Amino acid sequence: MRLVTYLSADRSMRIGALANLGSSMSDRVVDLTDAAEGIRCLRELIGRWDRLGPGLAERLRTGSLPEVGPLGQVALAPPIPRPHKVVCIGLNYADHAAETGAPIPTEPVVFNKFPTAIIGPGAAIELPEISSQVDYEAELVVVIGKTASRIDRSTAMDHVFGYMCGHDVSARDWQKGRPGGQWLLGKTFDTFGPTGPFLATKDEIPDPHALDVRFRLNGRELQSSNTRQFIFPIDQLIAHLSNVFTLEPGDLLFTGTPPGVGTARKPPVYLQPGDTAEVEIDGLGVLVNPVVSRPAK
Ligand code: ZN
Repeated sequence: MRLVTYLSADRSMRIGALANLGSSMSDRVVDLTDAAEGIRCLRELIGRWDRLGPGLAERLRTGSLPEVGPLGQVALAPPIPRPHKVVCIGLNYADHAAETGAPIPTEPVVFNKFPTAIIGPGAAIELPEISSQVDYEAELVVVIGKTASRIDRSTAMDHVFGYMCGHDVSARDWQKGRPGGQWLLGKTFDTFGPTGPFLATKDEIPDPHALDVRFRLNGRELQSSNTRQFIFPIDQLIAHLSNVFTLEPGDLLFTGTPPGVGTARKPPVYLQPGDTAEVEIDGLGVLVNPVVSRPAK
């Protein structure tokens, strides 16, 4: 199922799914909130998926869910607007590690974003006036489905709920130069975590390690690779992380970016006001975000 979070006419948050209805080839949004006992939050739905998921899938299949509208005309929010944790992996593509001049990591490079960085499809990435090097990074995002604590690789994929497109927006001048070499601040400015447009349950993605990942800036393709390039596959990442902290339903795992980032280009390419950023991943749609200057205080 392809799940969305959307805003209804009264601007309240609801959950939905994408459907092809009738003869139309374009996706339409159908409402899940009423069928899901009033749940308005996908993180909550994930926690109750074993009980509610099969019935929702059946109602989607039989076309008995109320239609909200064509996908392009529904106000989408981030699929998981306020995850408890946003964990990110750096340098997880062998070819990207090479372009940064960094050695191939022997264990995952882990950092994070705060939930306040998360925005949805169509929302603006805001360039802070205190950075002049805001870069793009297209990434596959794994959404955790079941609590994972001290698990091993053999069962790790049982803890995955699904996947979505993500954009790890990165202020390089804050990531690398300051403060004290920690990446956090450069990665977690507000709006630096676009996700969506939808969350695909894992049955929609038979092999998450065979997905083309692309980034386009104003229509020009600047990143193109495939998740088969991962240095650390998803099961290994989940096992590794879960031996340090507990992963919970709805937590997000950004899995690293392919080569072609702006800072590695000659001359470098950084996001500018008026740009349009697009992340596209096989089976996960296209995540489009405009780029603007951060509004004055
Ligand atoms: Zn990244």
